[in-house]
Amino acid sequence: MTIKHALPVTREQDFAAWYQAVIAEADMAEESGVRGCMVIRPWGYGIWERMQRLLDDRIKAAGYDNCYFPLFIPLSYFEKEAEHVEGFAKEMAVVTHHRLKSEGGKLVVDPDAKLEEPLVVRPTSETVIGAAFSRWVQSWRDLPMQINQWANVVRWEMRTRMFLRTSEFLWQEGHAAYADGKQALAETLKALELYRSFAEDCVALPVIAGEKPENERFPGAVATYSIEAMMQDGKALQAGTSHYLGDNFARAQNIRYQNDAGEIEFAHTISWGMSTRMIGGLIMTHGDDDGLRVPPRIAPYQVVIVPMLRDTEEDAAVLDYCRALAADLNAQAALGEPVRALLDARPAKAANKRWAWVKKGAPLIVEVGPRDMAGGNVSVIRRDRLYQESGKLASLVQPRAEFVASVAGLLEEIQAGLFAEAKARTDANIRRDVTDFAELERFFAESVKFPGWVEVEWARPTGAELDAVDQRLKALKLTLRNAPEKAAPATGTCIFTGRPALERVLVGRSY
Ligand code: AMP
Repeated sequence: MTIKHALPVTREQDFAAWYQAVIAEADMAEESGVRGCMVIRPWGYGIWERMQRLLDDRIKAAGYDNCYFPLFIPLSYFEKEAEHVEGFAKEMAVVTHHRLKSEGGKLVVDPDAKLEEPLVVRPTSETVIGAAFSRWVQSWRDLPMQINQWANVVRWEMRTRMFLRTSEFLWQEGHAAYADGKQALAETLKALELYRSFAEDCVALPVIAGEKPENERFPGAVATYSIEAMMQDGKALQAGTSHYLGDNFARAQNIRYQNDAGEIEFAHTISWGMSTRMIGGLIMTHGDDDGLRVPPRIAPYQVVIVPMLRDTEEDAAVLDYCRALAADLNAQAALGEPVRALLDARPAKAANKRWAWVKKGAPLIVEVGPRDMAGGNVSVIRRDRLYQESGKLASLVQPRAEFVASVAGLLEEIQAGLFAEAKARTDANIRRDVTDFAELERFFAESVKFPGWVEVEWARPTGAELDAVDQRLKALKLTLRNAPEKAAPATGTCIFTGRPALERVLVGRSY
């Protein structure tokens, strides 16, 4: 039996169209009319709120405090760090006027209301937070200074795609200052590890943590580290970055402190960010041809109860039965938190509601009709195992009490299962046996539709030599992802330069 899936297009047919279809059919987001800016609908925003909460707990546990800085940053703040301003100049939205006026019934910018200094809509907040650090940090006793901001930022992206690359996006940015460089670098790696564990434990997204090559560094950074996740089409998604800024920003912004010997020294700073791109990663990792599958930890609702109403007198009793079931489920705990169950009592047809929740990817969908009620039962659909082998929808009728008692275990199993599935796919699609460039070229030219990544040995070239490597890869639509911190040591020669290799680096197509 061939299954007729819920989405109009499958991953195999057209991955990019499938991605857009998931977003639309799961009611996650829509275009706003302003290029690169999206409206995030409740299901998409609910997922973001879950991510925020779980990540925020970890950020606070790492000793960071939340605060808020302005959306507008004076242009002169950027000019202090030359590489930083150059890196972001092409993507900056700038406010130059503060008033409109009416001219022949039309609103136009009032030329008399020109700002003395243009204001940049923040693309990231190192400059403004650095200015605050220079006020707040005076003595070694003020260090370390660790703060986090949840905010929206704007980067005028030329090629946008919902969640993955938008002009306005939501994120958190951690910023910290330390007395010495060694500690700052260690803390940069701690933030990277925080991202790895959040991605894997909460979003069930297997990632590879490592250092970015020099040409992919954050503008002004001494070193940039990333977590990279493999999407189902084999492409890489940079899912979070952590930057060691050395004393570059401290020098530019005068973040100095008096050490315990009474001498003045520059602090060493770091920054790290993760954005709504993570939702795109979630879709492309866990989605299937019936829509999204949300890992239970991240799901706004983990169990959705759909009453099968018939417009008869029995409906009220079925609704009562469902309400009591929701209350019982909400009194359970799973994955360290209270279970989140929803009764979907909207007047829509039960079958439509069922498929809406399948497409949204609620981990468990529980249907209750008069017959279930009479038998003290519920009919349970697991989103991660939607079909039987025959191709029929898999719905398990079981005693209500049994289901309530098993719900925590089920949610834990689904969380672990989604991670295991994605991890196995990622592991199976990283080749580590490519030892020369021609072979790399051949592999990506000939290989399957979704080729995955290749991990090769390289001599970590820099400057013009690295630019040449980048160009060679670009011609094959490939990029360097990161040098995995857990990779085996290099023993052979660099596939780009022929020199003795220093480490291993991942190469792949990317978003
Ligand atoms: P960065 O400050 O450039 O290191 O960016 C921090 C993180 O934000 C990146 O690792 C991405 O995951 C994410 N990000 C960067 N640019 C965008 C964008 N245009 N849309 C969504 N997320 C982004």
